[in-house]
Amino acid sequence: MKAIVVGGGISGIFTAIELKRSGLDVLVLERKDRILKKMLVTGNGRCNITNADLSCDNYNDKDFVKPSLELNDNGDFRNYLKSLGIITIEEEFGRIYPITLKAQTVVNQLLAEIEDLGIEILTESFVLDIKKEKGKFIVSTNEETYQADFLICAAGGSSAPKLGTDGKFYKLLERLGHKKTEIYPALTQINLKSKYLKQISGVKVNGKVLLKRQDKILKEDQGELLFTKYGISGPPILNISKYVNIYKNELSISMPLINILKGKDEKALKEEIIGSFYLLNHYSLERWLMGILDKKLINMLLDKTGFDKNIALSNLDQNDLYKILENLFSFEFQVLSTRDFENSHVSMGGISLEDVDKNNMMSKKIENLYIIGELLDIDGDCGGYNIQWAFSSAQSCARDIANKIN
Ligand SMILES: Cc1cc2nc3c(=O)[nH]c(=O)nc-3n(C[C@H](O)[C@H](O)[C@H](O)COP(=O)(O)OP(=O)(O)OC[C@H]3O[C@@H](n4cnc5c(N)ncnc54)[C@H](O)[C@@H]3O)c2cc1C
Repeated sequence: MKAIVVGGGISGIFTAIELKRSGLDVLVLERKDRILKKMLVTGNGRCNITNADLSCDNYNDKDFVKPSLELNDNGDFRNYLKSLGIITIEEEFGRIYPITLKAQTVVNQLLAEIEDLGIEILTESFVLDIKKEKGKFIVSTNEETYQADFLICAAGGSSAPKLGTDGKFYKLLERLGHKKTEIYPALTQINLKSKYLKQISGVKVNGKVLLKRQDKILKEDQGELLFTKYGISGPPILNISKYVNIYKNELSISMPLINILKGKDEKALKEEIIGSFYLLNHYSLERWLMGILDKKLINMLLDKTGFDKNIALSNLDQNDLYKILENLFSFEFQVLSTRDFENSHVSMGGISLEDVDKNNMMSKKIENLYIIGELLDIDGDCGGYNIQWAFSSAQSCARDIANKIN
């Protein structure tokens, strides 16, 4: 029995290893010149493989991911990696990395395993057509046509197209009767409207960010935020970015300009700042602000509040102070859009979950055709959840095929 895996990315390679171990003849077809190219750039080259705090709530469809995550959770994944000689460590926010903090370590160990098992990998093999005839899959690339009993589609989404994932593969599955949902960039930065971006680019603030329409809070997240020349970045921004594409218009984000770490008493901090305002009322507004927030943010705050930088605090009244505090604690920016697929880590949307069995990742349209990883309409939060999904969905699919052949 033979299986073809389309896509030598993260989910495809985990599946290929399991299928080969189960005794199948496995062929991986990868359009790029090397496999696992995307894995090398994950987590800024460190590969945030999973998260210590894993729950189905970290994904857009908790019901669909549940069986796969129950079958193979973060602990199972870490043990699996251990069995390949990869020791993992936990960093801030439960993020799990290889102990070397290098994605190359994981790639090297996977390549060594592939070699040991003798899995056939064909690179620069761009799958352009798939048919099923008389129970066999006929898979055509730019070069050749191959046949298999099982077909595993692991071609990824639309994000990071330079790494081989430009969304073209959806069409092949659509032709075979599967529905595709709308695809948007997710886990990406947000473009903001502000004339100060050039000036504030590079400033980091730690706090809670709210995505809002008028006064309604649509989504919120907390952590390190980084101003850039186009807008804003940082893990909380990546997490809320997909909602910019869901809710689309008239959006704003509200965030502090001062550091308000998670779990810290915001009221007490406010009182401390008010105390300092009255204590130092002989200071100019600019001098006082310099002790509270990054100097680069001061002009923007002064512009928004309409006060002169040289005004003495003693010349400001309580309303003026509250106006300043409001902007220090929740400054509003108009949202323009998210960044594009080139800059996004994952795609929101994909092959419709209605067409796939959540227990084993098999298509409900075509027997023995499996769809895994980011190709499906599944996206996880920032923090290792997408690689975990690639692994868990790969394992579900591989187990089902192994059960069928043994
Ligand atoms: C910059 C960046 C950083 C990221 N960091 C993290 C992180 O730290 N932690 C985390 O959990 N997630 C991270 N992600 C997301 C994660 O990498 C993906 O969710 C994951 O790789 C999806 O796995 P996959 O197997 O579904 O697809 P991919 O790993 O994208 O693999 C798909 C493969 O299919 C190939 N392919 C596509 N079409 C064809 C075709 N027609 N024929 C043949 N081959 C084809 C592609 O070339 C590619 O190699 C990051 C993503 C990016 C872009």
